[in-house]
Amino acid sequence: MLTDEQIRANLAAVRARIQAAAGGGTDSRHVDLLLATKTMPADRIAVAIDAGARVIGENRVQELAEKDAVLSTLPCERHFIGHLQTNKVNQVLRYVTCVQSVDRVELADRLQRRLETLDRTLDVLLQINVSGEPSKFGVPPDQALALARDVAKRDRLRVRGLMTIGRMSSDPDAVRPGYQRLRATRDKIESAAVDGVRMDTLSMGMSADLDIAIAEGATMVRVGSAVFGSRPRP
Ligand SMILES: *Cc1c(COP(=O)(O)O)cnc(C)c1O
Repeated sequence: MLTDEQIRANLAAVRARIQAAAGGGTDSRHVDLLLATKTMPADRIAVAIDAGARVIGENRVQELAEKDAVLSTLPCERHFIGHLQTNKVNQVLRYVTCVQSVDRVELADRLQRRLETLDRTLDVLLQINVSGEPSKFGVPPDQALALARDVAKRDRLRVRGLMTIGRMSSDPDAVRPGYQRLRATRDKIESAAVDGVRMDTLSMGMSADLDIAIAEGATMVRVGSAVFGSRPRP
């Protein structure tokens, strides 16, 4: 586990990388930073929030519940970035303002029904599998527009963009074509001008490859280990 000082220094370094990749200088493009906080205890996350982090992403509903007593008191927004089972929908909605991993109509349906009961709305991103790896969740790029149309029929869900998890590779350039594919998919959905669908968020890029993702158009990067250090292996 890293010290407070290490986390603050890492966060500053990640911000510098983001700014450099976004053009550098004062007129650089704005890119949001989401901290991926899986396995990290709430007190480590609190250090990053104290240092100015404003959005965190969790992968498991159980961790959202465990850390809620601390995180709900801090000025940060929580997103869900993991695979969401439909039987966890009621629980996840207690904690998050955005689900980045909507990858099927059945899930959209369950979210819609619960949101009607709660009388609220939710931002969602559609998860796209750009690498074609069977181990990854998300719809293939050629099904993204159809999913956007289906999800947009659920009026409590506000489609805000796309999310992808890039190819795992020791060669960072191997991820680039996938990120280009996500951007092209975003452009295609945008030009289809579907009612209720906005495409202002392109969530792609992690610790190892955020620079490439930003160069390819990411508006949000999701960073874990570059800030919090390596995680225990599952
Ligand atoms: C863990 C995780 C990240 C961050 O990964 P790092 O390599 O630690 O930066 C980003 N997105 C998702 C969906 C994750 O699960």
